Amino acid sequence: MTAKFRVFATCDIGEAIELLRGRGYDVEVYPEPKAPPKSLIVEKVKSGIDGLITTLRDPIDAEIFEAGKGTLKVVAQIAVGFDNINRADANRYKIPFTNTADVLTEATAEFAFFMMGTLARRMWTAEHLTRENKWGYWHPYLPFLGDEVTGKTVAVIGTGRIGLAFIKKCIGFDMNVLCYDPAYQNDAFVKTVQEMNNFRHAAGFTKEKAWIRYASLDEALREADFVSVHVPLLREGESKTPTYHLFNEKTLRMMKKTAYLVNTSRGPVVDEAAVAKALKENWIAGAALDVYEKEPLPEDSPLRDSAIEDRCRLMPHFASAARITRLSTDPEKGMAGRCAQGLIDVLEKNYGGDITKMPYVVNKEAFSRDR
Ligand code: NAD
Repeated sequence: MTAKFRVFATCDIGEAIELLRGRGYDVEVYPEPKAPPKSLIVEKVKSGIDGLITTLRDPIDAEIFEAGKGTLKVVAQIAVGFDNINRADANRYKIPFTNTADVLTEATAEFAFFMMGTLARRMWTAEHLTRENKWGYWHPYLPFLGDEVTGKTVAVIGTGRIGLAFIKKCIGFDMNVLCYDPAYQNDAFVKTVQEMNNFRHAAGFTKEKAWIRYASLDEALREADFVSVHVPLLREGESKTPTYHLFNEKTLRMMKKTAYLVNTSRGPVVDEAAVAKALKENWIAGAALDVYEKEPLPEDSPLRDSAIEDRCRLMPHFASAARITRLSTDPEKGMAGRCAQGLIDVLEKNYGGDITKMPYVVNKEAFSRDR
């Protein structure tokens, strides 16, 4: 069979590659687990590929689009976040790019929730006690205690897909919720949650009636026991509400001394030096991070300081790392499946070839007629 399209994948995305090959595509996969150098991506694009499969580790900008002028038709990213792709450049070259929203929403939200519990109940420190044979007695408060999550107040920063899914987990733990999102307020969702809280209380399910409402950032940070971050990385100039270093010395100082910060969004949303300082100087009780300003986390990161290790959980960008979420070839279930389908939609001109109608294309604005 003659290959319909040539595709280069900067990373193996599992069985979905075979799915593409089964349709007659000629797919080359970069064989290393690490990201390829940018020069190699440029070289592959220059060789005339039709489609490029990328991960959040690949910088995709004008240099790549220029190399693919006249041949490259689509960039399919296996992630919901696309801060590594220069949207303005993609639009200028009129190259659609796709992402894998929705299919990783629940996995990421539950991971953020588990990080919150692990941090507050000091599970990592407690397991170390057992493993290192330092568990000498049962005692009411020694060697340390953690903090409950149930019934506490959580600030959810960013009420998009993952923020709302995170709130759904919190409801089960009778938590009060302060929502903050300057760009999108889902009042219908908040109303439904409040009705559920009211019903649960009236039915004797909960002792206290839990509440949920939108608040200003100031209020959310000052009142919350937990702060969980679910925003995209938006640098200055990319949005009216940029998120770069949204958490800095000033905003961290607004939080309660007893409060915990959880970040599963993108590393640069949080000023890491400020978080390390906040933990060292006890401005906040703890932080659990999944993403970093530089990934993998450098050896000399201040976050690795042993003086704060029992209050600082460090995960390796792992929130969506669950089997079905990452690898299912079903575009309704897996990132790999959705990534492949996004590529197929553009290359095979599904939806009558109308890119604005393709559900997984992000930069639809570059293709709308009334631009
Ligand atoms: P989404 O677009 O549905 O939601 C993001 C929300 O943030 C939107 O409602 C938006 O209005 C809001 N927002 C924008 N600027 C804001 C600001 N300054 N302050 C507060 N809110 C603001 O996106 P999503 O699917 O919920 O994903 C959110 C982000 O999570 C992704 O962009 C990605 O970077 C990250 N993510 C990380 C992992 C991981 O493995 N750690 C996995 C999936 C997603």
